Amino acid sequence: MPTRNDLTDFLRRIDGKSYPSYKDLRGRYDFDHFTLSIEHVQGDPFAAPSRLSIQIQHEHSRLPADLFSNKSRRTGTETFLATAFATACRDSSDSLGSGKSGLLTIDAPGQQVLHRTCCQITEDVTILRFVAGLPASGRRILGRAAARLLTETIPDLVEAALRHRNLDAEALTLAANTNENADALRAQLDERGLIAFVANGAILPRASGVDNRPMNGAVPFRSPDSLQTSLTLPHGGETTGMGIPAGVSLIVGGGYHGKSTLLNALEHGIYNHRPHDGRELVVSRADATKVRAEDGRSVVKVDLSPFINNLPGGKDTTAFTSENASGSTSQAAAIMEAIEAGARCLLLDEDISATNFLIRDERMQQLIAPEKEPITPFVQRVRSLYDDHGISTILVLGGSGDYFGPADRVLAMDNYLPHDLTPEAKRIAGESVPSTFRFPHSDSPRVPDPSSINPFKSAPPYRGNRRGGDRASRPPRQNIKAHGTRALSFGSEEIDLSLLSQLVDDSQVRAIGQALAYAKEHTLDGHTSLPEALENVTVLISANGLTTLGPNPPGDLAEFRLQEFAATLNRLRSLQIL
Ligand code: ADP
Ligand code: MG
Repeated sequence: MPTRNDLTDFLRRIDGKSYPSYKDLRGRYDFDHFTLSIEHVQGDPFAAPSRLSIQIQHEHSRLPADLFSNKSRRTGTETFLATAFATACRDSSDSLGSGKSGLLTIDAPGQQVLHRTCCQITEDVTILRFVAGLPASGRRILGRAAARLLTETIPDLVEAALRHRNLDAEALTLAANTNENADALRAQLDERGLIAFVANGAILPRASGVDNRPMNGAVPFRSPDSLQTSLTLPHGGETTGMGIPAGVSLIVGGGYHGKSTLLNALEHGIYNHRPHDGRELVVSRADATKVRAEDGRSVVKVDLSPFINNLPGGKDTTAFTSENASGSTSQAAAIMEAIEAGARCLLLDEDISATNFLIRDERMQQLIAPEKEPITPFVQRVRSLYDDHGISTILVLGGSGDYFGPADRVLAMDNYLPHDLTPEAKRIAGESVPSTFRFPHSDSPRVPDPSSINPFKSAPPYRGNRRGGDRASRPPRQNIKAHGTRALSFGSEEIDLSLLSQLVDDSQVRAIGQALAYAKEHTLDGHTSLPEALENVTVLISANGLTTLGPNPPGDLAEFRLQEFAATLNRLRSLQIL
């Protein structure tokens, strides 16, 4: 293997040459303590930066084995190391010429702790994947600057962010312990009959609508006595807080008293959070899914009949299709799709629900005869959803008492703290009529037509050349691009993801795009149902990591759930169900 000195010599030799001479850099270099791989070289200084990785043996980094002894600890440690490398990059990244010359960045983790391709710890090595802008002035290679960047700056970064002796050992252990604690809490929910847990002292509100860090000076969470539960942590003994039992739970209270903030913390309780986030000990069932109205979205052959029947024009609601769903039909579809993707806990907030989907009051029932109303509101289904199907609901509601009857418990937020008002609410509800309705579900699973899912985009045809030439179109190329967490470009489609609030990272969106291409190749065969075909992929990823999607992945993919994977495919406008 060529060495660091060979790399220096080569870079000096190409100094002043034109940019494409960088292409020969591709390969692996021995740097004594670690290996540098140059995986992909950018075509010019303005193009996407070059892809690099380093591999360092644990015997060189001295990373203690205890920090990666199981999956929880490993992911906590990986996230810590990626964050340390990101910080070191920020300090060293410098403009060294045109375009992206001198740039150094890694896909920095946010508040959530997710398995990501940018940092991967195996039995023997730590792998970091990141990008660098190879320096140039105009299109002329700055070889000496490149040599400094690759053979001096990068080793310094490795020294600062990966060598155990230069890291804050206490913080590193805390990262591993915190992540293991959260996984252990989530694993205890089911056996305790809970769907979520919020530790006393947790900080739920965020700094702002665009800043996911904890709010300063927030009121710490405190459980009402009736729901106080103690759970055991692998590190730090016991934690006490609010255990929300399975069933139907309401979060009520005056406006601005913290209802949505609590629900948002629960919807992100599917993820673990980094130390000092405030939500380290807030966990919910891994399949908990937020469902909301999303008018205008497309819906393909979803059975909405539990909620919607007798649409005008005799439109079929057992296999409902629309290019432009309404508020209520989109919310009904979201619920049925969530259940299809394995959700056993639904989260709803009145702020973002269709009113006519949630309730219909008595006066309206007098004015509009039931046979004229296609919608059976959720209030009439929520009980049976749990009793007959084991699907719990947590619902934020400030404007209607109609749910007091079917609810198992009613929590009232008052100055950001919950109080158990179940007895009072039940008294007000009076005799509640037991729901005899069985929540139907269609037994014919939805099977996607693989040909309707295409990651390739055909390039525009050649205009022809001067010799009169050929107008044949160029070969199609794969097009998978994340636009923040707002949208995914997939082939020639753009999938709107802006209302999927449980997607938290653009790297998840990219990974979902890659995973969809993988599913198209391997598991969507025209016979396998939609949830099964996608789950086959997520099971592989959770067993073998994101390298399932390709042996040499880009460094900007992050782990995602089956629920968001399915939600993405469900929003693909070209999707056809057989
Ligand atoms: P609701 O849904 O009941 O109308 P929100 O959850 O939207 O109320 O909260 C209203 C405001 O109060 C938000 O700006 C939120 O950040 C803030 N807030 C929520 N919980 C707390 C808390 N524990 N301490 C301080 N501020 C909070
Ligand atoms: Mg609200």
